[in-house]
Amino acid sequence: MMKLLLLMTSIMNSYCFNPNDYVTIPFLRFPDSLSYNVLEINSIFEYLIASVYIGQILVWSHPAPKTPDRIAQTKEEMRRGVKALFYVILLTTGIIWKIQPLNPYYGYYETHEFGFKEFFVSLIIYMVTFDVWFYTSHIIGHMPFFWKHFHGEHHEFVEPGAYAQDAVHPVEALIQGPIGHFLPTFIYPFHPVCHHIFGLLTSVYAQFAHDGRWDPAGHTLHHYYYSCNFSIWGLCDFIFGTGYNQQKYPIPYIPTWLRSKVNSKNQDKKIM
Ligand SMILES: [Zn+2]
Ligand SMILES: [Zn+2]
Repeated sequence: MMKLLLLMTSIMNSYCFNPNDYVTIPFLRFPDSLSYNVLEINSIFEYLIASVYIGQILVWSHPAPKTPDRIAQTKEEMRRGVKALFYVILLTTGIIWKIQPLNPYYGYYETHEFGFKEFFVSLIIYMVTFDVWFYTSHIIGHMPFFWKHFHGEHHEFVEPGAYAQDAVHPVEALIQGPIGHFLPTFIYPFHPVCHHIFGLLTSVYAQFAHDGRWDPAGHTLHHYYYSCNFSIWGLCDFIFGTGYNQQKYPIPYIPTWLRSKVNSKNQDKKIM
């Protein structure tokens, strides 16, 4: 069962897939130009390296003791992630297949040069657009109705692991996943390769953020305090003043897996 879950997550936990590799129904072919040969991911093993491998490394190497509770939590994160990603992959396929050909920038770089300037502008637009989109939808997710029916599911993991990044309600997964990811392509012509790289890196970044050992925007603090750090990169939190504020939360949050370390350091200080 675990192997099946891993295999399914490896296929689904990436936006960089070519549906034609998996869909063999003759009349159901997808336009190649946006999805084919990006990152040259062509096999299940490459998917493993690209996504699950990173998640698994994070889970295995995490200092939190592998207690039955922690293992059960990881499995639950994966179970919910697989469920959400099933819908994510369906919508992503639909967007690549039916929506992107309607994009005015579709096929833009077949007739235009793509260089560092275009890459840099794409990066800025992607980061700003994704952050504004993520922040706005996340704030809405914390309103009572949306919390009860959608976003509260993700917050059941008070001290999340890497796989919690996908463990969201399917509706939230679609809004903050493929819709947020493809939205910037309607604002600026993104080269398909750079767009897919951004998608992969965002996914990996979110895994790290939930793992908690490299979390520049303080997402683990969001899981603990609920009412700060709503944004993905910290940009909107900085602009709207919703970032973590130690005056508002005077008791600092220390993850359980760090507490013994911090306590022993404090003990050393006392002894000295
Ligand atoms: Zn939240
Ligand atoms: Zn989260």
